[in-house]
Amino acid sequence: TALRADTIDGLAPEVSVPTYDRSRVRTGIVHFGVGGFHRAHQAMYIDRLLEQGGATDWGICGVGVLPADRRMRDVLAAQDGLYTLSVTEPDGTWRTRVIGSIIEYLYAPDDPEAVIEKLADPATRIVSLTITEGGYNFSATTGEFDAAAPAIRADLAPDRLPRTVFGLVTEALVRRRARGIAPFTVMSCDNIEGNGHIARATFAAFARLRDRELGDWVESAVRFPNSMVDRITPVTPAEASAELSRRYGLEDRWPVVTEPFTQWVLEDSFTLGRPDLDDVGVQLVADVAPYELMKLRLLNASHQALAYLGYLSGYRLVHEAAQDPDFRRFLLRYMDREATPTLRPVPGVDLDRYKHTLIERFSNPAIGDTIARLCAESSDRIPKWLLPVIRQQLGGRQGSGEIDCAATIVAAWARYAEGFDEHGEPIDVIDRLRDQLKALARRQRDDPTAFLSDRTVFGDLIDQTRFVDAYVTALRSLHARGAEATVAELARDER
Ligand code: NAD
Repeated sequence: TALRADTIDGLAPEVSVPTYDRSRVRTGIVHFGVGGFHRAHQAMYIDRLLEQGGATDWGICGVGVLPADRRMRDVLAAQDGLYTLSVTEPDGTWRTRVIGSIIEYLYAPDDPEAVIEKLADPATRIVSLTITEGGYNFSATTGEFDAAAPAIRADLAPDRLPRTVFGLVTEALVRRRARGIAPFTVMSCDNIEGNGHIARATFAAFARLRDRELGDWVESAVRFPNSMVDRITPVTPAEASAELSRRYGLEDRWPVVTEPFTQWVLEDSFTLGRPDLDDVGVQLVADVAPYELMKLRLLNASHQALAYLGYLSGYRLVHEAAQDPDFRRFLLRYMDREATPTLRPVPGVDLDRYKHTLIERFSNPAIGDTIARLCAESSDRIPKWLLPVIRQQLGGRQGSGEIDCAATIVAAWARYAEGFDEHGEPIDVIDRLRDQLKALARRQRDDPTAFLSDRTVFGDLIDQTRFVDAYVTALRSLHARGAEATVAELARDER
């Protein structure tokens, strides 16, 4: 059975489906970046609320701005906005539900004006984002918004309809202001420390490039709540559609597969209200910072360790690396001795348990998460998740914090960026900065700190002797003995 509004009532009984009347749901949220994660997380929470009989004014209109989003437009159009979310348990059990909360989808290049008017509509009260860490267009070292980026310059040209998320959202805010409609809330759900602060800074910076006073207004009148979001959602595995068809006789052209765990900690700061997310398990708090530090520095930074060290050790699936006893000890050592000292007290969380749960989550074979997904866009990730740990460990408590595992993860990235593995096989490095990083990495057999000399990525870390020593030791070990032995050596010290 093809998934559509008129077929969901006849689906296999194991598949749960929306029982609410979707025709009565109105758009209250416009979401940029409808990918795997949004569909496993925010759209799932809104679907839960709808199922409980609430949130009928909080339906979601998805928006895509990049050429790659054409496929999402076509799939959602064919399926009336419906898709399946399958939660996979480590023992192979699937729990599949059809999610009904996305009621519209607009592909911005088709009609930017329609997107602007949807955003300007008084019914739109929240604009949410999962546009990836790179989507915010700011430098990780200086924090400055990159006004010279070609897409941003094009969006600022007079008399041209905007194409970026910045241009579209800002134009809509201008129209709302002119029409006397209060601004919506901009809610970032990306994995960036202080994602709300970053969104505020970047959207205000863009608006300021249009008009100084407009920038000040965006900064003060629009709310940008911070959030910590967590649910490991891989790129949809190639066999997922076939699996749905085999299990339930159901044809979904772009399903989502995810893990059982889910968490969303959200700062309660909204201009025009919000759905009752606390009714469906979202934690609304005054200060998200301790939670997001915990998540980015434990989960996301550990993912970076599994990525490069895992790849170089020959692993291609995340759970295989995470089940390797040396990797588990390496991760625990990094988390206990390097990341944890940089965290703040996290209300209501048992950190020890959290770390062990993370390793169990990484080890879940049913999600099929790939090392390749974790290796992509490293230059947007390492500086945001791992380098802050290193800087803090170098600076804190007389600068005596341990950094050996973190330095090894950075060195493994540098080794990976050489573009071939330990057997001489080519690596497909996916990174905006690929060419410049590869060129530096290829010099490092002679000049071991060549990779660190890129100050746009590493800032002044190359001047920090204690870090450079640890990094060069790790890089030498990776070259001489390989990743497995390097991980094993650091793992030996951890019980
Ligand atoms: P995805 O590749 O499935 O979707 C990414 C979406 O972002 C696409 O629609 C893409 O067009 C859009 N996008 C990318 N760059 C953009 C830009 N410059 N402007 C506007 N839109 C842009 O990825 P995903 O798994 O859905 O993850 C998206 C983000 O969600 C991550 O980068 C991360 O910040 C956050 N997140 C993901 C996970 C996860 O496990 N996948 C977990 C927590 C948080």
